[in-house]
Amino acid sequence: MARYTGPVCRLCRREGMKLFLKGEKCVTKCTFDKRSSPPGMHQQRRRKVSDFALQLREKQKARRIYGVLERQMRITFDRAAETSGATGDQLMVELESRLDNAVYRSGFAKSRSQARQLVSHAHVTVNGRVTKTPSFSISAGDLIAIAEKSRASAYFKDMLAWAKTQARPAWLEVDPDAFSAKVTSPPQRGQIEAPVDTQLIVEHYSR
Ligand code: SF4
Repeated sequence: MARYTGPVCRLCRREGMKLFLKGEKCVTKCTFDKRSSPPGMHQQRRRKVSDFALQLREKQKARRIYGVLERQMRITFDRAAETSGATGDQLMVELESRLDNAVYRSGFAKSRSQARQLVSHAHVTVNGRVTKTPSFSISAGDLIAIAEKSRASAYFKDMLAWAKTQARPAWLEVDPDAFSAKVTSPPQRGQIEAPVDTQLIVEHYSR
């Protein structure tokens, strides 16, 4: 399964903001405030930013926050465009509904990339069945849980304490002691905190 494997903090510098891609380290060891210039040799020059560049950056930012590659992003956008609601809002709902994001938002992983790894390594079940697809789209009523065989590991014992301290979105009902989270309703755009201007993403893909 393809994923970005390069330097992560570089992505925050490219987007000019903290994207919180490394979990706990983003709070305890982040150097972004000391070094936030874009990566590359010629990035310090002042340049006029085109509309295309603005749209591209916004799309890249959303991709990086959710850890999806371009092809998956395009598929997600096309799916969002087929629905009757506002495409930009629906795009964010589709991204937020990914299984790896739901595991992260439940507090069972400290970052989306860690959640993605848990899913692809068969540590997560949906409605009792192991689901190894990070892009799996969860629906209202689904029960996400950590697989029984994984619960006794040192990782999940540590994660249990972490999960109990995390704020959770209103669309998830998490029971850390049962290693499970119930999807009570589909995520709503207003509940999604990602700092993304979806209108620019729609314009980018509509060119
Ligand atoms: Fe971004 Fe986290 Fe790296 Fe800070 S530590 S630059 S927030 S990925």
